[in-house]
Amino acid sequence: MKSRGLAVMNSKALFERYEFDRRDLRPNDVALDISYAGICHSDIHQAREEWGPSLYPMVPGHEIVGIVREIGPHVTNFSIGQRIGVGVFIDSCRTCRNCLRGLEQYCENGMTGTYNTYERDGVSIAMGGYCNNFVIDADYAVHVPENLELAGVAPLLCAGITLYSPLKHWGAQPGMRVGVIGLGGLGHMGVKFAKALGAHVTVFSHSSGKESDALKMGADRFILTKDIAKLKQYTKQFDLILNTVSAELDINAYLNLLTLDGTLVVIGLPGKPYSVNAGALIGDRRSLAGSQIGGIPEMQEMLNFCGLHNIVSDVEVIKSDYVNVAYERTVASDVKYRFVIDGKTF
Ligand code: NAP
Ligand code: ZN
Ligand code: ZN
Repeated sequence: MKSRGLAVMNSKALFERYEFDRRDLRPNDVALDISYAGICHSDIHQAREEWGPSLYPMVPGHEIVGIVREIGPHVTNFSIGQRIGVGVFIDSCRTCRNCLRGLEQYCENGMTGTYNTYERDGVSIAMGGYCNNFVIDADYAVHVPENLELAGVAPLLCAGITLYSPLKHWGAQPGMRVGVIGLGGLGHMGVKFAKALGAHVTVFSHSSGKESDALKMGADRFILTKDIAKLKQYTKQFDLILNTVSAELDINAYLNLLTLDGTLVVIGLPGKPYSVNAGALIGDRRSLAGSQIGGIPEMQEMLNFCGLHNIVSDVEVIKSDYVNVAYERTVASDVKYRFVIDGKTF
């Protein structure tokens, strides 16, 4: 199957038009026409080799929503014309303890990413969603509720699930005081989900212009973090803090904001190690944890939750020729709140 998209050829290159072949449908495969693909900061980290060596040519994109065009003979869970979503991985070993629990993102043998990796055959480079079509094993795709506006759905496939999963795991609920650091693609989904789950939500942001948006999204409080010393006044006020920042951060200043048994969950992946002050952990039996996207069953649960609560991402829909600019604006924290590429413009 011919695919038209955008690729980078090395870590310093800009995006250019790129045509490539996708595999013919296997019996359990679904082919889809891509309606929208979100731009995640992980795409930028990988295109620019901020996490170590990448594979090129690279077609990034792991927030994919589209319409089923064709199905293989063994596919029973999708039919032609249905809405379909694909996220950060396209396969996993299917047999390890974590895969059997529907936690494919923690596959003991390594999940297969949507791009910047070899497929499970060990030969073909996986190509992501910055293009017009996709082929996916039906077991690794999800259904999209009919009532949700499609452009705003694309970011749910990474940004959405990446915040929904830790909020559920650490039990966000009424009475819980949740902090979200960084109001970007991930962070703004964290605000919407934490609010829908009934928690008291505080946004920590280094951008003064985002306050009114944060409150509109459902945040109860907005704290500007330009002067990190001022955070001291919020010491021991939070049960759960989710750090979605794509850059390095003084993690100790935030650990001190946790109450007894509070947890700070690391979600942002700047690629450099944190320095953690042991005293900040010991003092109130605090935990420093991490969380990675979510498995297929939880992705479906999240999308159903969004359907029920009418939750989508706030997006700026762009044409494919705007992606290079969109990368610069994302790095400058200047996006409200996720760029989404219109699949018809490839
Ligand atoms: P994004 O849209 O660029 O948002 C990141 C936010 O971090 C910015 O909007 C900004 O929020 C804040 N920020 C950026 N630079 C900062 C700085 N120098 N100092 C303080 N705050 C800064 O990125 P994203 O797509 O949400 O992704 C965020 C991070 O999560 C990335 O590192 C990405 O790779 C990672 N990620 C992890 C997972 C996972 O499974 N754990 C999944 C997807 C992505 P304010 O303007 O409000 O301060
Ligand atoms: Zn992502
Ligand atoms: Zn596995």
